[in-house]
Amino acid sequence: MARAFVALGGNLGDMHATLRQALVALAALPQTRLLAHSRFYRTPPWGMLEQPPFLNAAAALDTALTPHELLDALLGIERAAGRVREGERWGPRTLDLDLLHIDGVRLHDDRLTLPHPRIAGRAFVLLPLAELAPDLDLPGQGQVDELLGALDTSGCVPEP
Ligand code: ATP
Ligand code: CA
Ligand code: CA
Repeated sequence: MARAFVALGGNLGDMHATLRQALVALAALPQTRLLAHSRFYRTPPWGMLEQPPFLNAAAALDTALTPHELLDALLGIERAAGRVREGERWGPRTLDLDLLHIDGVRLHDDRLTLPHPRIAGRAFVLLPLAELAPDLDLPGQGQVDELLGALDTSGCVPEP
């Protein structure tokens, strides 16, 4: 089993329902245990600014799946949530599941980069991740709480 961290986000449809269903789907993955998830955060759009706000969260898993099996499982959960891959990069989507990190894994190929290369600089990823693993060191980027300390998080609001 390896510890893995996943970012969840969406800004179309009933995002609360979608994120909850995604957590249920993560918990139901084969050879995988859902250990914890963060609160849900309302966050401003990133990349493409003219779109609705997002709801973001993070989850911690233990899994015996390989990194690519886990990626495929995440893409399958996105499809089940009605994710359509078209239009502009970083545009609106029902569900985005990014594989942030797997303990002990660094890799880069045409389908998967680990750790996810754009964690540093993203408060909407680091805030929920810091609830689960503030001391986590992301190889090549830094420690979660230190990366978060360098960011303005005022636009990101946790749900009660
Ligand atoms: P960003 O990666 O900047 O957050 P995005 O999530 O909008 O952008 P997508 O369109 O969801 O990007 O994903 C494009 C491709 O990125 C996926 O099909 C997948 O093959 C690839 N990818 C590479 N590394 C990862 C990773 N760590 N987690 C998820 N997808 C990844
Ligand atoms: Ca993403
Ligand atoms: Ca993605």
